[in-house]
Amino acid sequence: MEQKNNNYDVVIVGAGPAGCSSAHELLRNNKKVLILDKTEFPRHKPCAGGITMKTLKHLPIDINHLVQHKAQDMIFTFSPTKKIKLNHHKGSCVMVIRDKFDEYFFNETIKLGATFNKINKINSIKSIKNKVMIDVDGKIYVCDYLIGADGANSIVRKLSSNFEYKNPVFAYEGLVEKKDTNYSTEFIFNKHGYAWVFPKDGHYNVGIGNLVSTSKSKNVTKKDLRSFVSDKFGSTKISNITAFPIGTEGDNYRVQNNIFLVGDAAGLAESLLGEGIYNAVLSGKYAGSSINESYNNSVSAKLNYNEFLSHLTNELKLYRKGAKILYGFPMISYWMMKLGLGKKFMNGYSEGKTLSEIMGKKSIFAN
Ligand SMILES: Cc1cc2nc3c(=O)[nH]c(=O)nc-3n(C[C@H](O)[C@H](O)[C@H](O)COP(=O)(O)OP(=O)(O)OC[C@H]3O[C@@H](n4cnc5c(N)ncnc54)[C@H](O)[C@@H]3O)c2cc1C
Repeated sequence: MEQKNNNYDVVIVGAGPAGCSSAHELLRNNKKVLILDKTEFPRHKPCAGGITMKTLKHLPIDINHLVQHKAQDMIFTFSPTKKIKLNHHKGSCVMVIRDKFDEYFFNETIKLGATFNKINKINSIKSIKNKVMIDVDGKIYVCDYLIGADGANSIVRKLSSNFEYKNPVFAYEGLVEKKDTNYSTEFIFNKHGYAWVFPKDGHYNVGIGNLVSTSKSKNVTKKDLRSFVSDKFGSTKISNITAFPIGTEGDNYRVQNNIFLVGDAAGLAESLLGEGIYNAVLSGKYAGSSINESYNNSVSAKLNYNEFLSHLTNELKLYRKGAKILYGFPMISYWMMKLGLGKKFMNGYSEGKTLSEIMGKKSIFAN
């Protein structure tokens, strides 16, 4: 049964970067927004906390005070003797502590006027005529639009669509004490897929993942992370190890009704280096602006968002092609990067370009 005080323009499930980005867009247009999350903030999210320059262009908040390092020097390691060192004064990305970033983004979102409820369980989601009804812990919320921003294991996706991940990719991360203050940001390509060392103030965030997953691939394990750290640093000392899937299978995702998935819930992380915060922020922003447009100009939010998704998923397919070359033919990739592609990427990332812009196409997503 409808309860008046449980009526919202938009309900957003998940207060990570995708959810907060959607909320910002909607709240700035005076929409009545409810955010539901299963955790309070601050909370831990397994993530290396690398935020690319193109993400900063779309982030609705200033995060300068959270930046602990700029990736001005980068190393791509293909084997002990095959390394590519690159540099750009702007840096290809900034390093933050992910938990702090999410907490700040969340608090700034609440300041704009969102209502927040910590919840336990979403029991059901029904789309009836132009409304969505959500049963949360036995309470019914009614809204015009529901946004599923609840990450790779999205319950909104599972309860409201047949869209499922076939071969979810998985990544582990942990912290290693920082001894060398000049350590570069490093990606290492190995038998598991990729690994990274991201410098922060007092530690390195290290991790491993397998981004080209098939039904036959083996997920990486904690043991693999320990052995990577032991090879790299000559010590198995690593703390705070956590792991999580990355949503990368949204190449064909489109909205069917007034339930919109964004970020990892929609499978919008890229499969080359596992970057997901950019597409979480971008998709959240466009889901929000598509919904705003539908209130302001009676245009279809679904069509607008699907138009955006068609561009974004083309971009994801480009990353997937790149991943097939990088992980399938690492030595060819090494030589391609060494002979100029590496520099082109480093410059493009540092200037805040998308992959298709680096490949010479025009910018599609307005800042
Ligand atoms: C180990 C690792 C390292 C990574 N490193 C990077 C990196 O350096 N840079 C980068 O760009 N990307 C990185 N990624 C990917 C990135 O973390 C994700 O793409 C990004 O967090 C997606 O944002 P999101 O807002 O869609 O989802 P999330 O950040 O996962 O947020 C989802 C929110 O929904 C909430 N939620 C989940 N389930 C429910 C539920 N049932 N009910 C209510 N609330 C719920 C969660 O509590 C959470 O707050 C990494 C991923 C992993 C696993």
